[in-house]
Amino acid sequence: MINRSSKKKIGFSDFLSGEYARDYVRQAVSYEEQIAQAVELLKEADYVLLGAGAGMSAAAGAQYGGEFFDKNFAEFQQAYGKGPYMQDMYSAGFYPYPDEESRWGYWSHMALIAGIDLDVTPLHRTLLEALKGKKVFLLSTNVDGQFEKAGLPANQIFATQGSYRKIQCKRGCHPKTYDAEGLFRRMEEARRDARIPTELVPRCPVCGGEMTMNLRSDNYFVEDAAWHEAEDRFSLFLSECRDQKTVLLELGVGFNTPTIIRFPFEKLAREHGNISLIRLSRSKAMVPASLGERAVGINADMARSIADMAAGLTEGRKA
Ligand SMILES: [Zn+2]
Repeated sequence: MINRSSKKKIGFSDFLSGEYARDYVRQAVSYEEQIAQAVELLKEADYVLLGAGAGMSAAAGAQYGGEFFDKNFAEFQQAYGKGPYMQDMYSAGFYPYPDEESRWGYWSHMALIAGIDLDVTPLHRTLLEALKGKKVFLLSTNVDGQFEKAGLPANQIFATQGSYRKIQCKRGCHPKTYDAEGLFRRMEEARRDARIPTELVPRCPVCGGEMTMNLRSDNYFVEDAAWHEAEDRFSLFLSECRDQKTVLLELGVGFNTPTIIRFPFEKLAREHGNISLIRLSRSKAMVPASLGERAVGINADMARSIADMAAGLTEGRKA
């Protein structure tokens, strides 16, 4: 007979790895030592593969809810009430908009605010500046385009989850996306009471059906030619750096989508003695114990840890 009371309950979130497995360690050394260790690893590296998640944009200053949302989306709160949806940009995306004019009224405004017109790049620039002289590539689940805006060439970026700039056929009937910046600006200009005029509603040029944002949310997500080219360049970079002094620099990747950056980074480091892992996160920077000295996990405000790492790197450069 199982004595239930003596067993710790395993909640669904524990099961989903929301809590870290026992193999993970929070490193015991001081913050300063961790920064010094990370700087050493980066100094020695010829290749740096950046892996950026939502925590990077947040650390850089991107905002989603609270006063920021109330201020920038008052028109939508007025139209739909604050309810459970009109609290932040993420939730508002799920609102059951009554028609296409209303749906695009929201999404065009959000795409401009959260991506196209967003500029939280000083932190990104600090990092890129510090990595000058190294071969750098970015794997990102962010769709806000901030690293490109900060000066990282597009051909060094693989953003797997789409972009706020692009739209696609809602049913993914053909493998093409369309740059929508101009369209979104016209919508922004013409929008009244949270709706855009009918003539601005986009239609799929192939099947005539509805269009949607090119953001990965279901199986109809379109991986267009640019996506596949980026994938090719990414795999080329991987095959190059696999045998070189390489650092995987993980930036604000939590446990929501750990399968794209977090787990593959651990696997790469585990399988290649020349590859190290630096994991930066506000609170989820624990690293696998088995990686030993080749892994540094820094739990801190990333605006601070990135600035400190960058200072360490540029200081060494001038000396
Ligand atoms: Zn179509």
